[in-house]
Amino acid sequence: MLYLGALILLTILAALALKKALGESLLKKEGNLKNLESEYAILLEEKSGLKKDNLAIEGTVNETIALYNITKDICKTLDEKKIFAIFRERINDYLKIGDCRFLDKDIDLSPYKESTVFPLVIQQDTIGYLIASEINAEDKDRFQILAQQFLIGLKRVLLYKKMQELAITDSLTQLFSRRHFLDRFREELNRSKKFKYRFSFLMVDIDKFKEFNDKYGHLVGDAILREVSRTIKETIRQIDFVGRYGGEELSIILVETDKEQARFAAERLRQAVETKNIRVYDEELKVTISIGIATFPGDGETIEKLIESADKALYTAKQTGRNKVCAYTAK
Ligand code: GH3
Ligand code: MG
Ligand code: MG
Repeated sequence: MLYLGALILLTILAALALKKALGESLLKKEGNLKNLESEYAILLEEKSGLKKDNLAIEGTVNETIALYNITKDICKTLDEKKIFAIFRERINDYLKIGDCRFLDKDIDLSPYKESTVFPLVIQQDTIGYLIASEINAEDKDRFQILAQQFLIGLKRVLLYKKMQELAITDSLTQLFSRRHFLDRFREELNRSKKFKYRFSFLMVDIDKFKEFNDKYGHLVGDAILREVSRTIKETIRQIDFVGRYGGEELSIILVETDKEQARFAAERLRQAVETKNIRVYDEELKVTISIGIATFPGDGETIEKLIESADKALYTAKQTGRNKVCAYTAK
């Protein structure tokens, strides 16, 4: 009996000990689970942080690509009006913007108080302003960065223009640049004054050139200009010189040449161009020129007066049918 009682007691004690042990293990597992849960929460947080970082990197990469693209497009042209047209078109791909304008330095800025104004400063000189209206606050910094790229493009164009002005030869036609031609013109005028020589100044303009540009495009127009320049250079004497006065206007000095001789030489030039078959790309074209002549000293004793007289004679040639040579006559 005693033995049975002890056995029951032992069993109860063992059962109690087992229950305690099981309870402790359960508690431990619960604790582990909680730890795992909090670790999982931390990982989730880290994941969302990484996602944000990724988005930020993506944003930076996109912005860098945008900058690269807009800069690349701006650099395709050497015309300041065209770079603004490109900038204005492309900026809308990257920002929400109402209107964007490229304004002159002398503009009154008071109507633009509500707009974002970016001064275009080159070597301490403000040469104009980029003005953007209705731009979101968060886009203002991006606009400044893009405007900076426009300014770099503008600097490049102005530098190229300056180089062209300083150059002796014009890059398209290989004739003298306007500036160099005028320097040589001045020298010839002084020499002719000193030795009492005559010389003639010719102003040449391609007839209906705009129509060629419109019909065949600017590249063909450029090629025509090159061919006409080459023909003229080949037809004048070695001592004479020719420059690109303006767009499609060429100027020639025929040294020690009086009006009648100049008329003869100009007629030869006109015919040389008229009879030439100008082959550009797949086109074979015919082009004509008109020429105005002014002779020193009768038609002018200064560069300005000689240019004015030749211009008037050229105008007469254009008015009376084109493909023509006219010498200045005082009326
Ligand atoms: P006109 O017979 O009266 O001279 O007619 P035009 O069409 O030649 O008239 P105008 O002299 O007014 O036009 C000149 C044109 O020449 C306009 C301009 O677009 C073009 N031009 C000027 N410079 C260049 C150039 O470097 N390349 C090309 N392709 N075209 C030019
Ligand atoms: Mg012209
Ligand atoms: Mg013309």
